[in-house]
Amino acid sequence: MNITVMGAGLVGSLLSVLLARRGHRVNLFEKRPDLRVSQWEDGRTINLAMSERGWRALRLVGLEDAAKEFAIPMRGRMMHDPAGKLTFQPYGTNNECIYSVSRSLLNRLLMNLAEESGVHLHFEKKCTGVDLADASVQITDLHTNATRTVHADFLFGSDGAFSAVRAAMMRHNRFNYEQYFIEHGYKELTIPARPDGTWDIDKHALHIWPRGHYMLIALPNPDGTFTCTLFFPFSGDPSFASIRTREDLLRFFRQNFPDVLPLMPDVAEEYFRNPLSSLVTVRCWPWVYQNRAILIGDAAHAVVPFYGQGMNAGFEDCVILDQLLGEHPGEWARIFDQYQRTRKPNADAIAELALQNFTEMRDKVADPAFLLRKKIEAHLHRHYPDLWTPLYTMIAFTNIPYAEAMALGRQQDRFMNSIMAIPDIHSQWPELDYESILKENLVHHSPAQSILNY
Ligand SMILES: Cc1cc2nc3c(=O)[nH]c(=O)nc-3n(C[C@H](O)[C@H](O)[C@H](O)COP(=O)(O)OP(=O)(O)OC[C@H]3O[C@@H](n4cnc5c(N)ncnc54)[C@H](O)[C@@H]3O)c2cc1C
Repeated sequence: MNITVMGAGLVGSLLSVLLARRGHRVNLFEKRPDLRVSQWEDGRTINLAMSERGWRALRLVGLEDAAKEFAIPMRGRMMHDPAGKLTFQPYGTNNECIYSVSRSLLNRLLMNLAEESGVHLHFEKKCTGVDLADASVQITDLHTNATRTVHADFLFGSDGAFSAVRAAMMRHNRFNYEQYFIEHGYKELTIPARPDGTWDIDKHALHIWPRGHYMLIALPNPDGTFTCTLFFPFSGDPSFASIRTREDLLRFFRQNFPDVLPLMPDVAEEYFRNPLSSLVTVRCWPWVYQNRAILIGDAAHAVVPFYGQGMNAGFEDCVILDQLLGEHPGEWARIFDQYQRTRKPNADAIAELALQNFTEMRDKVADPAFLLRKKIEAHLHRHYPDLWTPLYTMIAFTNIPYAEAMALGRQQDRFMNSIMAIPDIHSQWPELDYESILKENLVHHSPAQSILNY
């Protein structure tokens, strides 16, 4: 088949590899220059947290080892309180890690593999019009301004949160669409490397400075730097709007992030130079138009970044689609229908969990009751692994469908609420007979049985 893929970000590049490997002729269009020869200045995250779902996709195309070469394992959250005191919370009880991965290095790997797999890549070619009914697109060459029409059997929209393919779908009857911007935006800042190229703070942790209504996080890069992201309200006090001068900024950092300030000599210059971006959740339905145009990745389901799952979820879309292509060769209508019906509830679940996790990261990780709760959950997981897998573990370290993980997480929440309501739980918790309480209260769940194909 002749297939157009719109958008050579992480998801479009991976999808193109998988389609080409199944023998299709793939044209991949991207409005930006080729990042392998010129750097993109998009003001978006330099690095991303990759977890099991992402690795599973990279294994499928044989890129896991190549990506691990520049991926930095992060074993847990390192919390920094306002006095500079550190608390480390491991992500799992079995040394599980998530990985800090460079967005551009990963995208380069995928583009190279796409090219090797026979995909035709076209850069600085922008989609400026879509005819969904015959899967054709208007492509404008950003150098010459000339526009041509490209016909195909199928059109995949992997063109991100503000997708042009999705915009075309929106003009049709009975297309449901919701976009929701949170009141926080984000700005990236840097902790530079030490003079010898090493890291100034622990490189095997995701650092968080939780401050109630806002937070700063930092992920390590291979060159000794950390990319920090300040998630902060657009308006109010304090907010991006209330910090107007260099002095405002330095005062704010001295008060709230005193241990970071000495590590960021250029914080004021960077803060006023770097772009301020917004955070959006996109929900829509259907993802498939007349079995000719299909949405995938952020174009179908942009989520806020607080579970570190946006790319992981988009990669999982590709894995599931590829499985369906293998199971039902040539039955396109069936493949597309199963793809969207399988993925939509899972995309909705991770969108909701990501919004909830913002409150947890910026607020609760510093709360003693929350920390005790997490300690008890880790105890349950260690001693009763067949009965208890924490929600974070299910999301980050297994392939249990997101919607199933969320439902189990809700059941666990109710259970933990009753445990935390026990008088003197702070002193009682090591003595409780968890096995009987768990058996009475929870539906038996073994992740090993639950790793469904989709
Ligand atoms: C602050 C932040 C932190 C994040 N952290 C994480 C994380 O830790 N872990 C994680 O898993 N995810 C994370 N994400 C989410 C992740 O970035 C996205 O889910 C992922 O990039 C989606 O990939 P995509 O290929 O679907 O879309 P995109 O990466 O947006 O790629 C779309 C591509 O389409 C191109 N394009 C757009 N319009 C057109 C057009 N008209 N014509 C031609 N080309 C077009 C764009 O130039 C782009 O290259 C984060 C997101 C943000 C904003």
